[in-house]
Amino acid sequence: MTGRDGRQEIAYLNAHLPVTDDLLQATSPLPPTEVLRFAAPCQESRCQHFHGGSCRLAARIVDLLPTAVESLPPCAIRKTCRWHAQEGSAACLRCPQVQTQISDPEELMVEVAGPGADGPEPRSPDQASEADRQSNGGI
Ligand code: SF4
Repeated sequence: MTGRDGRQEIAYLNAHLPVTDDLLQATSPLPPTEVLRFAAPCQESRCQHFHGGSCRLAARIVDLLPTAVESLPPCAIRKTCRWHAQEGSAACLRCPQVQTQISDPEELMVEVAGPGADGPEPRSPDQASEADRQSNGGI
């Protein structure tokens, strides 16, 4: 996490960094999940946010959060990211403000984080593409 204009944002690594004990201990005394965000394969039906073949967390992020950045953040996992595959660039423009664990979350973040499988229908690929064209000049 980094801070800018009083807000916390994700800082993206430009290469894959394996999770090691040293990395996990480096955030002490804070828990790693308050400082780092880990990429992991989508667990699909084993995840509380997955419903009807889609990630409702990604749909809530796009539906409820304002954009956090004006252009796509450099991200090493975009080609395999479910949020991006499902919601397009709209997910990436909101992604930097998403933290794994927040000690004192605002009401909006609580709404975005839960209640699991509830949430808006994900956008269709056509809707995501159209929104991407409008917000990113055709990216
Ligand atoms: S939503 Fe976009 S920026 Fe966030 S992890 Fe996925 S590809 Fe990267």
